[in-house]
Amino acid sequence: MARLSVDPSHHPGQFDSHLVCVNLSQWLADDPRREVAFVHTRSHLKWGIHHEAHTLAKRASFPFNPGIPPRVTFNFIRRKATEACKDEWQRLFSSADYRGHHFLRLCDSTDKPARPSYVGGGPWLPFFGDHPSFCARAIRCILGHAPMGEFRARFNIAGRRDCEYCGTGANQTRAHLLRQCNMLVRPRRFRMYPYYLGELYQYLRDNTWLFSFNPLPREARRM
Ligand SMILES: [Zn+2]
Repeated sequence: MARLSVDPSHHPGQFDSHLVCVNLSQWLADDPRREVAFVHTRSHLKWGIHHEAHTLAKRASFPFNPGIPPRVTFNFIRRKATEACKDEWQRLFSSADYRGHHFLRLCDSTDKPARPSYVGGGPWLPFFGDHPSFCARAIRCILGHAPMGEFRARFNIAGRRDCEYCGTGANQTRAHLLRQCNMLVRPRRFRMYPYYLGELYQYLRDNTWLFSFNPLPREARRM
């Protein structure tokens, strides 16, 4: 705190530090013999002159910035800008036109649909961001841009539309791959599986070739 109080560079308390510097520089310039020393003592010990200085400092509230509202600080402005950005981001994300009509909505641990956030890398990356190829498979799945029949049909790309994994003739949609295809490993008791981010993580771990461009393993091919 002592160092920061006379540090006019960019930091959360810059405004107050700048005022301290302005006042001190003037006081120091008046007499070259003047100097400033910071002495750190524990206030509860109430040592003579130190306690006197402590009491004086506590009594004085913002002696250097009369008329300036304390909320105009770097921290305050940064927090307001960040909150405004996040609010706008979440507002836009609630629109399917912005989010994407094929975006797979999953819930976080609070049982609410995951929404964009800047905290801890947002809700998705902490689950899927460890390995690039795993993250790519998760993103393909969530966005619906994956090597599967539904995607090929949507963009008129040559290739099979039916599911080559189970060979039942079912359209190979993402919903089929996530909830119906009997060649994929999933807990059978869940009807809306995967529902949580953690469940999609586990599903992709259990079916390592799903949503990847790698050749399909022989055991996962029926036709
Ligand atoms: Zn299938």
